[in-house]
Amino acid sequence: MQGIVERVQADRFLVDSSWVVPASGALFTGKARQVGRIKTGYWAEVDGKWREGGIFRADRIKTDEDYPGHTFQGQLKSQGLQEADKIGKGKQAYTHPEVVAYVSNIGMSVVPEWAKSQFKFQFGVIRDPTLNAFALPDGSIFVHTGLLARVENDSQLAAILGHEATHVTQRHGARGYKKQLTTFLPAMIGAEIVGTAVGDDKNSFVKAATALGLNLTLSAAVNGYGRSQEDQADRVGMRYMVEAGYDPTPAPRVWDIFNETYGDQSKVENFFYGNHSTNAARKKNQQEEIRRHYSDPAALKITRPVNEEGYQKAMLPLTRDNSMLDFEAKRYPLAKAGFERVLRHLPEDPASLTYLGRIARLSSDQPGRFPEAEERFRKAIQSDPRYPDAHRELGRLLASQKKRSEAKAQLKQYLDLAPVDAPDRRDVRAELAKL
Ligand SMILES: [Zn+2]
Repeated sequence: MQGIVERVQADRFLVDSSWVVPASGALFTGKARQVGRIKTGYWAEVDGKWREGGIFRADRIKTDEDYPGHTFQGQLKSQGLQEADKIGKGKQAYTHPEVVAYVSNIGMSVVPEWAKSQFKFQFGVIRDPTLNAFALPDGSIFVHTGLLARVENDSQLAAILGHEATHVTQRHGARGYKKQLTTFLPAMIGAEIVGTAVGDDKNSFVKAATALGLNLTLSAAVNGYGRSQEDQADRVGMRYMVEAGYDPTPAPRVWDIFNETYGDQSKVENFFYGNHSTNAARKKNQQEEIRRHYSDPAALKITRPVNEEGYQKAMLPLTRDNSMLDFEAKRYPLAKAGFERVLRHLPEDPASLTYLGRIARLSSDQPGRFPEAEERFRKAIQSDPRYPDAHRELGRLLASQKKRSEAKAQLKQYLDLAPVDAPDRRDVRAELAKL
């Protein structure tokens, strides 16, 4: 076991999510020759055995004042800050203030107190329907809309953000820097993608980073987080969420969400995000972590509810927007699930009804007949007669069924209601002219 020491008490210290107690006659090497000499922030490597109550009894304890790669940290932090600034100002930043504040509140709640003075943690959202999150070494953490739209509650989001925060607090960027230097591109920065062992698929990652407008040095770094750092981020992140008062029980389900979402996607994506064996292993590790450290209800101090209802309500605008991105990307089953989630809370939401109608029409197996689509469009119009898109879609559907006069009336309604600069005005006018 190894990592940066996060806390020290009289007879024990916390490293890699576990309390370490020296066995009698334990061999100390390096900087500290007894627990009392170990300081927060030291690097520690320990060998030993698990004892009851999740205590690690160490036979050998090696410590150092600094962690491997610490000389790179300053440079990585400033590069991270620059990149974060670029992302924040970029057109892919999702800036809905309440959504961002919600994510940021949960994020700040899982960051341990000691780390707040050492990093400037900030949380942002990226408009992208894939299931991603990443952390830069300065403390900037970003989550994709795709991930937020599929997470189910506060506990799961806390688990993801705890994982990301750990990459920052445990200096995974700097610790992996030398390895990256020799194995991939120079001048890299620490970052990563939450759901994956991305190390095997450099091209996919480069694609994702390029889409964000990040320089390739960043994309290279994302590849740098190896399996052992990912596992450490899962373990330490869980301790962060538990100490913040969250219930860890819903956390392992995050891995099912990855599998469910990407199970029916293309091979590349499936490989990239939804590696079934990796997800299954990480889920199992999380369950074991709960058993080892957090299974005693008396010791757990759960002060924050799982909050499924509140989370999903807060994410409604994001879920709707993200489902539109899924729709544009022709990921219809994912878009459908997202709009249905919105309707569970807002059963009359005209945009979700209209999109669900479009999906029903596209996936109809009865040529020329679209009863579900028509019903959705009409319900959207009934709910908000001034929502233009439902008129356009109903008009198009009726036109396809040669119901000319009714189709005309709907398309005209659309032109009356749509913004003057709506990009499809010209198309709709042309369609009207043909009727
Ligand atoms: Zn990670």
